[in-house]
Amino acid sequence: MQFSWPGKGSLKSRLITLLLGCNTLLLLCLTLSFVCYHSLAFPPLAGEPRLLLFASFQLTLALLGVVGLAALLAKRIDGTISEPIRDLSRKMEIVSTSQDYRVRVERAGEDELAVLFACFNNMLAEISVRDERLALHSEELELEVAERTVELSEVNRQLEGSLESVREAMQSAQAANRAKSDFLAQMSHEIRTPMYGVLGMTELLLGTDLTKEQTRYVDTVRRSGEALLSIINNILDFSKIEAGRMELEQIPFDMHQLAADAVAICAEDAARKGLELTVELEPGLPRMFQGDPGRLRQVVVNLLGNAVKFTLKGSVRLRLALAEAPALVRFSVEDTGIGIAPEAQRRIFNQFTQGDESMTRKYGGTGLGLAIARQLTELMGGALELESEPGRGSRFSFTVRLQPHEEAPRPERCCVALRDKRVLLATDDEQTREGAMEQLLSWGVDLECAGDAPDAFCRIVTAPFDLAVLDYRLAGTDGIELAATIRTVPAGRSIRIMLLTERDEQAADPRLAELEATSFPRRQLRQEGLYRALVAALGMDDEERLAVGCCGAPPPPGPRQVLLVEDNVVNQEVGKGMLESLGCRVKVVEDGAAAVSEVRRNRYDVVFMDCQMPVLDGLEATRRIRAWEQDSGGRVPIIALTAYAMPGDRVACLEAGADDYLSKPFTCDQIAKAMDRQLNGRVATPGMVEEGSAPASLEVISHDKMSGALEMIRTLPGNRGVEILRKVVDLYLASTPALLQTMREAESGGDAEKLKAAAHSFKSSSANLGALRLAGVCMELESLGRAGSTQGALPLLHQVEEEYRLVRDALRGGPLC
Ligand code: ADP
Repeated sequence: MQFSWPGKGSLKSRLITLLLGCNTLLLLCLTLSFVCYHSLAFPPLAGEPRLLLFASFQLTLALLGVVGLAALLAKRIDGTISEPIRDLSRKMEIVSTSQDYRVRVERAGEDELAVLFACFNNMLAEISVRDERLALHSEELELEVAERTVELSEVNRQLEGSLESVREAMQSAQAANRAKSDFLAQMSHEIRTPMYGVLGMTELLLGTDLTKEQTRYVDTVRRSGEALLSIINNILDFSKIEAGRMELEQIPFDMHQLAADAVAICAEDAARKGLELTVELEPGLPRMFQGDPGRLRQVVVNLLGNAVKFTLKGSVRLRLALAEAPALVRFSVEDTGIGIAPEAQRRIFNQFTQGDESMTRKYGGTGLGLAIARQLTELMGGALELESEPGRGSRFSFTVRLQPHEEAPRPERCCVALRDKRVLLATDDEQTREGAMEQLLSWGVDLECAGDAPDAFCRIVTAPFDLAVLDYRLAGTDGIELAATIRTVPAGRSIRIMLLTERDEQAADPRLAELEATSFPRRQLRQEGLYRALVAALGMDDEERLAVGCCGAPPPPGPRQVLLVEDNVVNQEVGKGMLESLGCRVKVVEDGAAAVSEVRRNRYDVVFMDCQMPVLDGLEATRRIRAWEQDSGGRVPIIALTAYAMPGDRVACLEAGADDYLSKPFTCDQIAKAMDRQLNGRVATPGMVEEGSAPASLEVISHDKMSGALEMIRTLPGNRGVEILRKVVDLYLASTPALLQTMREAESGGDAEKLKAAAHSFKSSSANLGALRLAGVCMELESLGRAGSTQGALPLLHQVEEEYRLVRDALRGGPLC
């Protein structure tokens, strides 16, 4: 703000001028009044009325002049100051009421009021300019808003369009996914069906009279078919996982059984390579859980299969433990194989990837196994881990969170006839071993397994057995020749012998009677008759036989009546052949509708129902049969057959009313087992380990496969004794250094359990070869270990080393061979 002294024509100077004029007039009046007063009071003039009148007149004039001047001045002030201010206030009022900033106040000149008015006018002008600008701006804003709105609605429209296309894309992706899954299901069905034909027919063919060469060819077809099926299964599993269609089951299962099954599947390969394959169930691991046993077994078998494949010598060990109560289970598969290089360790969990990717790689495979195993364990809430050192071995481990399952109280076993009987099972066929082992162990027998004739023979001559179950078709020699050899040694004279036959002619072989041996059809291993046959073979009395009777159902009155519902002619042929080979009478129908009317018309012991069929599918047919039974009474067991393509198949079958479920391709054994479950009421496959007696470590297959009584081996029939003997000696020399080393370690580490196991193994191998002194010292060491001590083991160990040197030299020197 500026302060300035008012100039010439300023309001202030005019006011000062006016006031000065007023003062002058007043002064004049006062002077006149004074003069008048003195003139009147002046004695010479006193009494002069003319003069007095004149003075009064003058005074009045002066007063009138002053008043006139004051009025003039007031008028002048009003015109100069008040009127403009009033004008200003009027204009302000107009502005405030009408908001019209174009109003102006007029005032010429340069006085303060003119300045004030000019400022007022300027202010109004400013306001009005600002208002205009504001109006302009708001117009612009409006325009901009309108533009933006247009743009936004355009974007909105586009977004809606994109959303629509995303929705469409999603729908078509979902449709594609559905199509992919349907394709998978269809593919699975289409591929597995012919595979089922190939494998089933091969199995049937193997049961016919073939020359050795033909058997070999057919066996190769079977193995190749199985390998192809396993690759197909892997690819289908993998696609299923990729499509997010892998669903896990939640059913109760026996964990001990699962472990035993998985090991049994890999046992033959391990035996062929001379590997020790063991399973350890840690104490405290419950038996029953709820989860997906099929997928769990698939992971374990894959890891065990790899371990056996990539291990040239040593051992493969499966361990199961309860990682956290109640149902977090830890699995680990450990081997002493080739190991995996650190840079390959991460890579191998990817699909289609192998540890050795070079052109010269030695081991085949698709590289899918671990990728599937990893994804399955993740689906089961775990993670697959690996520790490995090249050249030393690998350990794959994972945990899975399962549901605890109440263990059903096991019925008091009344079948005591076989309990604790010492039985030797000699077979080189994996399925036979698996089937027989399962049954024998469930009856409480003390079982040993041998993979070939020399092994079986050695065991018999070095340890007492009540019964030898020999496969008629056995590597090294055939079962009947082995039986004949066994009978030639004192230890083999009292033993009971039972031969597992493949064909009726074998069962009718007159040599069986000469050798006082009985026989049992191999294909019926999983059926109830086996118990009866074993009891008979052991020559037990009637009372004991009675005990057998209460174990299962009464013997069937005749052949089982079976209805097979299957549309595919090859499958019909295979299924019929398998069922007939199990002694069943089979009626085949082609679709669900025919099955329903067939069940209404005739009585069947069991129905095998394919799920995918024309006219009426298996599930619907099952439902209709169940609905009809509601009114008519009775209930025929229905076993559903599917290609196991879609998750939830099993549930769907069971919900439709089926009692059991088989996925194609299946084997005779599986059919027999499924029938057994339905007809003899076996709810689950019997366990591997007797309750109460479950050891902390359960050795399923032991490979101390050396020979004893060298002379006996050498004279084995078929002129192959020498060859076998050489093999046996080689095996002995290859395996014993490790045992010796283990005994040393056990002694220095004070590990009695380890000492016992190694000494036992060393003892039987040595005894088999006739190294009885050495075996004797080993036995002392074993007894020490059994008593829980390693004290005093050192001198015995020195003695073992000394004896072993002698035995080794003797064997290498060849006088015995
Ligand atoms: P493949 O069918 O080729 O065996 P996997 O996915 O099962 O496929 O295994 C991938 C690779 O991992 C194998 O090729 C091998 O190099 C390596 N591997 C797996 N398990 C073992 C093991 N126990 N010891 C050594 N290498 C292993």
